[in-house]
Amino acid sequence: MRDGASGQSVSQIRRDLAAAYRLIALEGMDDGIYTHISARLPSGPGGEQRFLLNPYGLRFDEVTAANLVTVDETGAVIDDPYGAGVNAAGFTIHSAVHMARHDAACVLHTHTVAGVAVSSNKEGLLPLNQWSAQFYDRIAFHDYEGIALNLEERARIVADLGDKSVMLLRNHGTLLLGRSVAEAVKLALNLERSCKAQVAALGMGLTPVVLSHDVAEHTAGQYQSMYDSFENKGKSDPEWAAQLRRLEVSAPGYLG
Ligand SMILES: [Zn+2]
Repeated sequence: MRDGASGQSVSQIRRDLAAAYRLIALEGMDDGIYTHISARLPSGPGGEQRFLLNPYGLRFDEVTAANLVTVDETGAVIDDPYGAGVNAAGFTIHSAVHMARHDAACVLHTHTVAGVAVSSNKEGLLPLNQWSAQFYDRIAFHDYEGIALNLEERARIVADLGDKSVMLLRNHGTLLLGRSVAEAVKLALNLERSCKAQVAALGMGLTPVVLSHDVAEHTAGQYQSMYDSFENKGKSDPEWAAQLRRLEVSAPGYLG
């Protein structure tokens, strides 16, 4: 994943992160008050790292641009307009990834039924369709070790992730890194569709047609070029604009 030069303002990052929570909720990809989406903010006045996270205890459909909490790399609160703090333990995986991957503007973690199902199979995600082909040979894996994330496991997660942007957490869920919040959300939505389609296809009891290496790799490259055009070349992103318009109708309070 190449560095993104988002150049976004803090208010744009707050808007996009609130939109990310609402879109994941609209798609039914949230898990109560668990899992998180974090976004990197520009460094503070002393060069300190700062991130945005959801307030502790709120559902994803209650997150707004105004109530997002600013934390440092340890999860310590810097600014908390809502006053409920954050789930610092839930931020540990995010902080580890943010510290290791400065190219990641956003880290998005989900527990969806389809994502957990695919992550629980040794074969992982198969190139069975256009959605999943974009992830071909681009997925990292991390074996489940229990809920507690100690420092040693954080190091293993970062090592397992390497330079990839998509990781299947075995028996647990998914982890996406985006050069922008928009990119992380688009990857998450496409990975979810991929997993749902795989669960459906393999559940039919017939023989699935798996795309060849050449076709899957070619398709993944096409997707990569499209993603790069938005992140590296500053091209306007009609897909993200459409998603924000969707929220104006479906979640008009998300800016808060
Ligand atoms: Zn989790």
